[in-house]
Amino acid sequence: MEHLDAELLSLLALGESLGTDTDADHLASCLVCSETLRGLQHAVHIATLDTAGIELEKPGSQNWAAIHQALGLSPTLATDPLTQPSAGPLSHRRSQPRRKRP
Ligand SMILES: [Zn+2]
Repeated sequence: MEHLDAELLSLLALGESLGTDTDADHLASCLVCSETLRGLQHAVHIATLDTAGIELEKPGSQNWAAIHQALGLSPTLATDPLTQPSAGPLSHRRSQPRRKRP
């Protein structure tokens, strides 16, 4: 079975009404093509999403603790920088010795 052209599926995902009746029949009966189209439509939806009204969730301090531990940072950097907006990691950068990369 020959599936629909990837370019045609991409244009369909963008809302274009292209293709022949044969293409439409194939799309209606082919799980591979319909799943590909659904994935492309999802990508279009995400890429064109209006983020103006979306507020991002602030990460909990356990995230910084895990990053701090994984990177082996200095104990002076243990405090979650998001709990101290004016004293983030950038303010410590010059006072800390650089770690040497292996
Ligand atoms: Zn197909």
